[in-house]
Amino acid sequence: MSDLTGKRALVTGASRGIGAAIALALAKAGADVAITYSASPDRAAEVVRGIEALGRRGTAIQADSADPAAIRRSVEEAVGALGGLDILVNNAGIARGGPLETMRLEDIDAIIDVNIRSVVLASQAAIPHLGQGGRIVNIGSCLAERVAMPGITVYSMSKSALISLTKGLSRELGPRGITVNIVHPGPTDTDMNPADGPQAEGQRQLVSVGHYGQPEDIAAAVVFLAGPGGRQINGAGITVDGGLNA
Ligand code: NDP
Repeated sequence: MSDLTGKRALVTGASRGIGAAIALALAKAGADVAITYSASPDRAAEVVRGIEALGRRGTAIQADSADPAAIRRSVEEAVGALGGLDILVNNAGIARGGPLETMRLEDIDAIIDVNIRSVVLASQAAIPHLGQGGRIVNIGSCLAERVAMPGITVYSMSKSALISLTKGLSRELGPRGITVNIVHPGPTDTDMNPADGPQAEGQRQLVSVGHYGQPEDIAAAVVFLAGPGGRQINGAGITVDGGLNA
């Protein structure tokens, strides 16, 4: 189990789903945790209560990841609340599908803004605060490497972009003792992709272990990368998809 005692983490988009599980797992490992959310203050407050119940400091910051000023403000607020920053987890993401031919410009822009630009800007704002042993963990998707179905083209593209972002930034920050990695979830039971949703059975058939992942499965990989065991892993991807991409 990674020991994150004394570490300070910011997890974006952590009022629900994978982000909430990551925030709680980091706190369980000993970190103080700030989270951002967009539209669910009650759910965010519940996550903060969970962090505090583990004996750690927690804080929730409303910040739309589509808004550059809000992203920068949220990083500064997290640093202020926690007294610094050691770990940034870029988790906030949205999925909007449909054939490219008929996709609306606003949906294409929203995916690019939240799934790509916010990761660039949150990382940029966090870098001056990260020191030796610092960590950036991006949340990609198994679709970043293999698009096994139609109708999810732009979303998949947005996650592929995070691979080169992760690799490039690992080259910039590795010499400063800061690692940058990406975790690729496969089908994971959340509001975005419920295990009992209309799209679930087709995805389940592609997963060799035969079942959806839980948010805690993704959180476990993030906690490992964030901890001392991850110190030699840089610019890498860990796929947590039950074998879908094998
Ligand atoms: P959910 O939709 O269940 O939860 C999304 C979280 O992100 C919520 O906390 C939500 O906050 C927040 N969020 C959404 N939009 C914004 C925004 N504009 N600004 C700030 N916060 C925002 O998603 P998941 O937990 O399933 O997904 C988490 C990450 O994992 C995403 O990057 C997703 O692409 C990726 N992923 C998920 C997979 C899956 O099968 N679930 C598979 C592969 C990748 P609020 O409650 O306020 O709306």
